Amino acid sequence: MRWSQTLVTTLREAPQDAEIASHKLMMRAGLIMKLGGGLYTFLPLGLRALRKVEKIVREEMDHAGAVEVLMPALQPREIWEQSGRYSVLRDAMFKIRDRQDREMVLGPTHEEVITDLAARQINSYRQLPKTFYQIQTKFRDEIRPRFGLMRAKEFSMKDAYSFDVSWEAADQSYQAMYDAYVRIFKRCGLKTKVVEADTGAMGGNFSHEFMVLADSGEDGLVECQSCTYAANLERAERALPQTAPETTERLPRSVATPDKRTIEEVSAFLKVECSDLVKTLVYLANGEPIAVLVPGNRELNEHKLARALGGVSLQMADDDTIRRVTGSPVGFAGPVGLTIPVYADAELKTSRVCATGANAPDTHLMDVVLQRDACISEYYDLVIAHEGDLCPRCRAPMREKRGIEVGHVFKLGTKYSKAFNASYLDADGNRQISVMGCYGIGVTRTLQAIIEQSHDENGIIWPLSVAPFQVNLVVPNVQHAPSLQAAESLQTELESQGIEVLFDDRDERPGVKFKDSDLLGIPIRAVVSERSLADGCVEVKLRTEAGKSMIPVASVSSRLLSIIEGAK
Ligand code: ATP
Ligand code: MG
Repeated sequence: MRWSQTLVTTLREAPQDAEIASHKLMMRAGLIMKLGGGLYTFLPLGLRALRKVEKIVREEMDHAGAVEVLMPALQPREIWEQSGRYSVLRDAMFKIRDRQDREMVLGPTHEEVITDLAARQINSYRQLPKTFYQIQTKFRDEIRPRFGLMRAKEFSMKDAYSFDVSWEAADQSYQAMYDAYVRIFKRCGLKTKVVEADTGAMGGNFSHEFMVLADSGEDGLVECQSCTYAANLERAERALPQTAPETTERLPRSVATPDKRTIEEVSAFLKVECSDLVKTLVYLANGEPIAVLVPGNRELNEHKLARALGGVSLQMADDDTIRRVTGSPVGFAGPVGLTIPVYADAELKTSRVCATGANAPDTHLMDVVLQRDACISEYYDLVIAHEGDLCPRCRAPMREKRGIEVGHVFKLGTKYSKAFNASYLDADGNRQISVMGCYGIGVTRTLQAIIEQSHDENGIIWPLSVAPFQVNLVVPNVQHAPSLQAAESLQTELESQGIEVLFDDRDERPGVKFKDSDLLGIPIRAVVSERSLADGCVEVKLRTEAGKSMIPVASVSSRLLSIIEGAK
């Protein structure tokens, strides 16, 4: 393909709103163009790379035995009511009305549609197991679309759904997808970290996320320095430090703490460590007030709290509720004397002397021993894990990292199959509910994550497997007719061997062409110039390496083929 024939518009500067390296580079290399917040057009080069990622995904899904379907993006509201998720995802969905005034949604995901399909198409255990997949556009009204394709309103996802006769069989389908994901990301040239994850609005009981480690990642995770344990912060557990129990003969006493509001202010004023202050948070769990206690130096993990309480829906209590249950204005809640259920982080189970709010304005209580002075309903692991916490498996210290979630696999169980009666007749003729799994890859996010992980100060460094072109053929001076001719015949020869060539035939200065070549990041650069031809050679340079080599014109195609084959 000639540069002049396609559309490659490189930019010297990234637009203002591009904050992270991969977003800047996608814009500067002319891979995508912004239409509006979270909406992007794929330009020719970006589309070529996207198609390559899709091809890898498709090959590995097929290899794993999944079958491809294509479901509508436009979905009737009723199926979302049927699964019970309309109210959960309402704000995240784009909702529209047809001319009969029927509400439709633009699918943010397809569990409902596929389970409806399975309910109608699968009737016998002989048809199972089945894993369906599609590569399709999803729509989500994200609160904060940003970082280009990373968090868009419209994006491409590969979503797959498995149906099995039993939980054990479903585990095998899950493993097959997990293994396929490992291969997909490897073939895309990505290093990923697999972490245990929260199941959130999807439901189900177990899930793993595939993370591309990057400082710009929106997800936090911890990984054990010693064993393989790794988890998203939404889920990560921690082993408790061993602390000696403490107690005191003294009874709780009130201390005036005027205008001391933050943990740091109170801790400095009372001269107690932040970890010996107990934060009391008031929530509504399924509408009923509860109090939650965490050490002053830790943050509550709402996902863990919701799970510990059996999947309740949680809301921070409003000021009126706080006043009613604590008898004091907001900011002074404490566990002593509360009559609502009180849940405490497990670290507080080791008896110790602490300070708490006093349920009275501008007052705290000192010398509180929770086990003695408060009525704690239950202790759970309730805080967000962080750097240095102990691994729940082996007690080694954990490290905190950031990551980009590129894939997510869930064991769903029967939540959707029950709602849609996706059942089958077993060998004895009894009707049974299918057990499901669901598996997503953000295809467009993966494409950008590849760039986030593989670039330098000059531009993108595409892995060969997903590069828009394999070879960037450059003629520094197109006015030099022999160079132009030699390059044209080399292009023809390479393309006849199936090599993908972007031939920079522009009448531009060499410096501009070489800068653009680095920016585009095409893995192999082949330069045909007056100087190289004087030696009967083409100058070949890999984007990943600094060195160049001179290769005789006659052997260029076989040499490039072997580089390309070697990378597979
Ligand atoms: P996130 O936590 O990043 O919002 P999610 O957990 O809601 O993502 P899933 O429902 O698990 O996403 O979707 C499967 C995959 O789709 C994700 O792993 C991610 O790669 C991709 N994805 C999700 N939301 C977006 C988005 N707004 N833009 C681009 N890709 C997305
Ligand atoms: Mg997810």
